[in-house]
Amino acid sequence: MSSNLFIPPWAEQVAEQLGPGPHVVVTGISPSGNIHAGNLREVLVAEAVANALKVRGLEVRFVFHADTIDPLRKIAPGIPADYKSYIGHSLSRIPDPEGCHDFYAEHFLSPFEETLKRMEMDVEVLRSHELYEDGFYTEVTREAIEHTEELRQILQEVSGRKMPEHWSPYLPRAGSGQVVGAKILEHLPGENKVVFADEDGWEEVADYGRGEGKLGWRVELAARWKALGTTFEPFGKDHTSRGGSTDTADRMAEEVFHYPVPGRYEYEWIQIKGKGAMSSSKGIVLLPQDMLEIMPPGALRRLILGRDPARALDLDLGAGFPRFMDDYSAEVEPHPVPFAHLVTVAQTVNGDPEKAAVMLRRGGYEEAASELAELRRDLTYARNWAEEWAPEYYRFGVREEVPAEAADLDAEQRIYLAAVAGRLEDGMDGEATQDLLYSTAVELGLKPKTAFGALYTTLLGKKSGPKAGSFVAGLDTDFVRERFRLVSGDTMIDEVED
Ligand SMILES: [Zn+2]
Repeated sequence: MSSNLFIPPWAEQVAEQLGPGPHVVVTGISPSGNIHAGNLREVLVAEAVANALKVRGLEVRFVFHADTIDPLRKIAPGIPADYKSYIGHSLSRIPDPEGCHDFYAEHFLSPFEETLKRMEMDVEVLRSHELYEDGFYTEVTREAIEHTEELRQILQEVSGRKMPEHWSPYLPRAGSGQVVGAKILEHLPGENKVVFADEDGWEEVADYGRGEGKLGWRVELAARWKALGTTFEPFGKDHTSRGGSTDTADRMAEEVFHYPVPGRYEYEWIQIKGKGAMSSSKGIVLLPQDMLEIMPPGALRRLILGRDPARALDLDLGAGFPRFMDDYSAEVEPHPVPFAHLVTVAQTVNGDPEKAAVMLRRGGYEEAASELAELRRDLTYARNWAEEWAPEYYRFGVREEVPAEAADLDAEQRIYLAAVAGRLEDGMDGEATQDLLYSTAVELGLKPKTAFGALYTTLLGKKSGPKAGSFVAGLDTDFVRERFRLVSGDTMIDEVED
């Protein structure tokens, strides 16, 4: 089990009710488009419950079931329009739209699987097309076909919809490649085969022991519980609505497959602040792999799960993010550095961990400065956040040349800069520097905002910036003195810009 072992109270409660096991915790997804942070929430709910069972000393198998045999239903944004011709075909038998993986499903599944590895998740990834091809679902498929009438009855009662006359729980793959409902003419249970009529009325044969078709989704869910021995599975609210897929699967499991309904947890959607609910088909997605660019796996787990995954979550990776990171660090790190300060440091030192360590020491973060490997990692998160997500007021870059904006500074501001240049000493810490900057302003009768504005303009080319004391203290003192003298002397600006 990884160091990211995290078991929130709600997961403890679920585990408490699940009994002694052995347990099979399952989470599944159809990789028909980008697998986003909302999908990750389901996997994390399952992981938390699996972990809670494990620490109780129970036997647990944790499975991620990728529905790779599922038919393509619609074209996700960014997929070529001519992929329309593949609608109805299994995701495992459609070419990768970008040509980089073996097939369509793998193009979306592979980066997600990679993310789970980066998160050190102890999960078994299964691909449904392989399970069908290997005969794993043969028994439950035969059982389903033999109980076609009962399944149809349940489906009609629960969904309130009339099923077609030739409805079948099994969808054979037709000659066209489409996996669709077809009229089953004959079942040959000894040979694991069905004879069916294709779109044009021709007789065809499908071997259900070799993946030449699949169970329809609602039946498959119940059948899969039995085949895998599932004892727990989380579901999003789209499945658990009245008359929805869990309602039908529950009855099918009990009445047809004679398998007890697994434990359940209903999780709510994740919204992206200002954009709405996450949805691959609407192109509103946040990819877990991108989120790992700005935070460690432990933080991602907490962020995505939220206080309670049964509640909707408004994900804020902008202005609200530093506070989230501070709450997280306070919990897991012995000597946390405020995230906003890391953002300042990262942008000031351009990613150089040695310089960052100096800046952190001057800021009073001695312990954090001594862990260079961790510091390098945290600086990368802070810098990536500043570049990709931070509101404008967090962003800055120390200008290599005197900014053109410095030409607008007035005489008093220039006098202030000259005075500061004369007083700055090597090795001053953030607090001492802050005092110096402030008292010099007061002495010269300048409002702090005007004085500090001169300083930011001179270094960053903008009127505001990070907390001045620790920022200036983190820079090379000679560089700051030189720059302030240059700007206070005014006449040299043009020359420097050449
Ligand atoms: Zn690919």
